[in-house]
Amino acid sequence: MHELSMAESILSTVIENSEKNHAKKVIEVVIEVGKMAMLNSEQVIFLLETLSEDTIANDANFIVKEIPIEIECSECDFNGKLDSTDIDPYTPLPVCQKCGSLKVLVKGGKDIIVKNIVIDQ
Ligand SMILES: [Zn+2]
Repeated sequence: MHELSMAESILSTVIENSEKNHAKKVIEVVIEVGKMAMLNSEQVIFLLETLSEDTIANDANFIVKEIPIEIECSECDFNGKLDSTDIDPYTPLPVCQKCGSLKVLVKGGKDIIVKNIVIDQ
């Protein structure tokens, strides 16, 4: 399950960083999820809350922000964000919304990043 392995790796990043900073408790975690990553945000939050029981992050507020896909088209030079409705979840290939070309370079919205961790020392 995609979401579960992501939630596990996000949580281990959070705990590792918090322990390095001598945290007693994790208060808030902001995670940026690119639309290309095709993660179900609600499911990720639910899994994070479940997995964080018995860790220093058990009361943390997990916030997932979805990041739009940004492309550069090599056919028509369109450069910018894609409307999420253009993406078919079963074949998540970005298509240029201006000319329909598949020759696009994905510049953003691919990654899952732990953006911010608020801790209580
Ligand atoms: Zn184009």
